[in-house]
Amino acid sequence: MAHSKALLVLENFIGGKFVPCSSYIDSYNPSTGDVYCRVPDSGKEEVEAAVKAAKDAFPIWSSKSPLERSQILNKLADLIEHDLEAFAQAESKDQGKTITFARTVDIPRAVHNFRFFASSILHHVTECTEMPAMGCVHYTSRAPVGVAGLISPWNLPLYLLTWKIAPAIACGNTVVAKPSEMTSVTAWMMCKLLEKAGVPPGVVNVVFGTGAKAGEALVCHPDVPLLSFTGSTLTAQRITERSAPHCKRLSLELGGKNPAIIFDDADLSQCIPTTVRSSFANQGEICLCTSRIFVQRGIYSEFLKRFVAEAKKWKTGNPSDPTIDVGALISKEHLEKVRNYVKKAQAEGAKVLCGEGVDPLVLPPSNQKGYFMLPTVIAEVKDESCCMQEEIFGPVTCVVAFDTEEEVIRRANGVKYGLAATVWSSNVGRVHRVAHRLQSGLVWTNCWLVRDLNLPFGGMKASGIGREGAKDSYEFFTEVKTITIKH
Ligand code: NAD
Repeated sequence: MAHSKALLVLENFIGGKFVPCSSYIDSYNPSTGDVYCRVPDSGKEEVEAAVKAAKDAFPIWSSKSPLERSQILNKLADLIEHDLEAFAQAESKDQGKTITFARTVDIPRAVHNFRFFASSILHHVTECTEMPAMGCVHYTSRAPVGVAGLISPWNLPLYLLTWKIAPAIACGNTVVAKPSEMTSVTAWMMCKLLEKAGVPPGVVNVVFGTGAKAGEALVCHPDVPLLSFTGSTLTAQRITERSAPHCKRLSLELGGKNPAIIFDDADLSQCIPTTVRSSFANQGEICLCTSRIFVQRGIYSEFLKRFVAEAKKWKTGNPSDPTIDVGALISKEHLEKVRNYVKKAQAEGAKVLCGEGVDPLVLPPSNQKGYFMLPTVIAEVKDESCCMQEEIFGPVTCVVAFDTEEEVIRRANGVKYGLAATVWSSNVGRVHRVAHRLQSGLVWTNCWLVRDLNLPFGGMKASGIGREGAKDSYEFFTEVKTITIKH
């Protein structure tokens, strides 16, 4: 493809050095549809070099004290924070998300990920038991595992990659990370800061490229004993199969089809704006976004009217404009896929109340070729419809009515996923009851996306295996041993 403007060209980061690659793939600016960046198309050779560098760095890094590692993580957090605006601009351009979201969510959270694990690594305790009759004391010790393979998706690029890198290296592992080929720029920018932060060469290696080539090479590498993956359920199935011959330790954070359950005693003044946000934040491209809204029949009409009015307030357009709420979707193919879900729902007799195909999408001239879509609300859709069963991962949400608590729990659980749910009610007993019975790794009641990183994050059913968080990530990224002393 001919490129008129000078393109940003990324390089792999291996053993503390930027290394060019023999071939490259195009990366698009989703808000203009232009190719603006070239990303290494790494494969086995590059992954081999990165794993070797990580293996070589392991003995020294793993023998540093948690305090020494903690200080380096904090320094890296400071350096990213210092460049927050540049990172936010790059994330918005690369992913299509609004500059406001990148500035207030993505990059601050990436900074916080390093600070959080820099602190939490200092506070773990291991177990000890006594057996006086046998004259024995038992205790556990934990050690880093080795080279961790980290694979992340395109929706929250630096946020999710650092959520893996930070605990992995805090625990003393070295890593080979592979960001999504569609959003590689902020990972590459972070690599430029590693030396200054004091991260020794080889501790963090980043290999760019596709899942099929670079990702699989990492998954199948015999010297990578653990893999932390965030992405789609389909890819996780493939990773599980390909890694099985090596008996690798896997953490899988996958897709969702998250319900919001709204009872007739909910505070709608809080619930409606929050549920609009939980449906459309980051263009609906968050694994935790709401996509099935169950509303108790007595308030259904009022809810729908107010919800659609609120959704229509969300402005779609140029992501670098700070007044915009909805940016561009990640790719042309993804936009097409999301639009097709709306078409399928219409063909099944559902009603599109606002957004795609109903309201005009007005874009500035420079964004005419971008991948934009209005927040779309669908009603009168059947539970068996693909729009109610499959992860759409775009600015589309479905609203349906329910009558009883028992019924709504059954319907909310009636999908293959189990990642996140929200419950809205002022009845304390009811929110506890419903939260306990939902098949969901996370349940938010009367709020959304309020996270304490200390506590487990992850999904049930097809939404994942394993949990991440202070204790969970520590356990995943370390190997435990039980030692018995007879005295
Ligand atoms: P994806 O599965 O297509 O890709 C994710 C990553 O895996 C990318 O880096 C990709 O290159 C790589 N990959 C693809 N095929 C591979 C293979 N065969 N071997 C190794 N690596 C491979 O997912 P995506 O489209 O980038 O992201 C969207 C998905 O991620 C959605 O399903 C979303 O719900 C999920 N997600 C989940 C969470 C969570 O925490 N549960 C968070 C964000 C996104």
